[in-house]
Amino acid sequence: MSWTVGILRASQRAGTVRANFLGPGMAPSPRPPAATPLGGAWAVAPASKMATVKCELMKNFTSEEPVRNSKISIVGTGSVGMACAVSILLKGLSDELALVDVDEGRLKGETMDLQHGSLFVKMPNIVSSRDYVVTANSNLVIITAGARQEKGETRLNLVQRNVAIFKLMMSSIVQYSPRCKLIVVSNPVDILTYVAWKLSAFPQNRVIGSGCNLDTARFRFLIGQRLSIHSESCHGWILGEHGDSSVPVWSGVNIAGVPLKELNLDIGTDKDPEQWKNVHKDVVASAYEIIKMKGYTSWAIGLSVADLTESILKNLRRVHPVSTRIKGLYGINEEVFLSVPCILGESGITDLIKVKLAPEEEARLQKSAKTLWDIQKELKF
Ligand code: NAD
Repeated sequence: MSWTVGILRASQRAGTVRANFLGPGMAPSPRPPAATPLGGAWAVAPASKMATVKCELMKNFTSEEPVRNSKISIVGTGSVGMACAVSILLKGLSDELALVDVDEGRLKGETMDLQHGSLFVKMPNIVSSRDYVVTANSNLVIITAGARQEKGETRLNLVQRNVAIFKLMMSSIVQYSPRCKLIVVSNPVDILTYVAWKLSAFPQNRVIGSGCNLDTARFRFLIGQRLSIHSESCHGWILGEHGDSSVPVWSGVNIAGVPLKELNLDIGTDKDPEQWKNVHKDVVASAYEIIKMKGYTSWAIGLSVADLTESILKNLRRVHPVSTRIKGLYGINEEVFLSVPCILGESGITDLIKVKLAPEEEARLQKSAKTLWDIQKELKF
């Protein structure tokens, strides 16, 4: 199918949908909820007030019915956006994929290139445009667009430029898909997730930052390399701020339920003769290393976003380390987003898992929160 045909079909659909959105007195839902709940097997009602393991373990914050369809939109068709697109297509997660970018040449080229692969993978309808009308009625919108840091530019200035970009993007995304979930990937991801939450006015369950999902995947891979065990069987979590000040939770690292800390009390500390803390150092360094060699990172972030997407679209209720509003936990009182283990399903983040952190780990989270808030409080919306 040609690019223009794709757009035309999407616009026709969107035209109908838009009429629904804007009709006076209409409910904001673009489609009526399905008669039979898709993931009916999950008991997602908030736990009773009685002190149960479930209510001690989880903090629930969903209050509305989820949207049910599998249209996915990706804003930003650079290296990361396209890696997300390919990973999602190969997993067959979506019945329609919409791409948006301001760079028309790149957008058209990437769209055609993907469409020409339709023969080899069962690809859904792929549409694209600079106009957000193509994103109408998305279940999930993935944001990978944003300004790049310029030479000598401060972080605050970069974030402020991204706020301006996000302002434009968010109003269109919300207009065409008022009940979608958002996954923010653009950096600095924790701050931009907060920006997306502010600008969209969505409830916090529908605004998800990819956060430490990639850091944790790198951590588990590198632990696996040391032990000659596949990363899937190496359990461990990196929480907090994505990137340099992320926090590895060594107390939780285990293989088949065997905590490595029981075998090496000093794991993750300077006293450790095996210097396992270098694993986390390598996690932090790896993005810089890859960027030095190939100019950007793309495949692992693309695959990790597709994994989050799968949990949401299939309502799997798996636990992922993603960035969410963390105010009120770990002594943090600022309006910041940091990664903690979160349950992802059709409503987005339904619950977060209250991990017990060591005092020094909690202190690192508080430090990140302060650094983020110092930038966020200066932002002009
Ligand atoms: P890129 O420069 O290759 O692509 C960015 C794309 O965004 C470009 O195609 C550009 O035209 C588009 N764009 C810019 N402004 C836009 C707007 N207003 N509307 C629509 N599109 C717009 O960059 P990339 O390598 O693909 O990285 C994308 C982002 O992902 C960066 O912020 C990067 O730091 C971040 N990233 C995050 C993680 C993570 O773990 N969270 C990992 C890797 C990269």
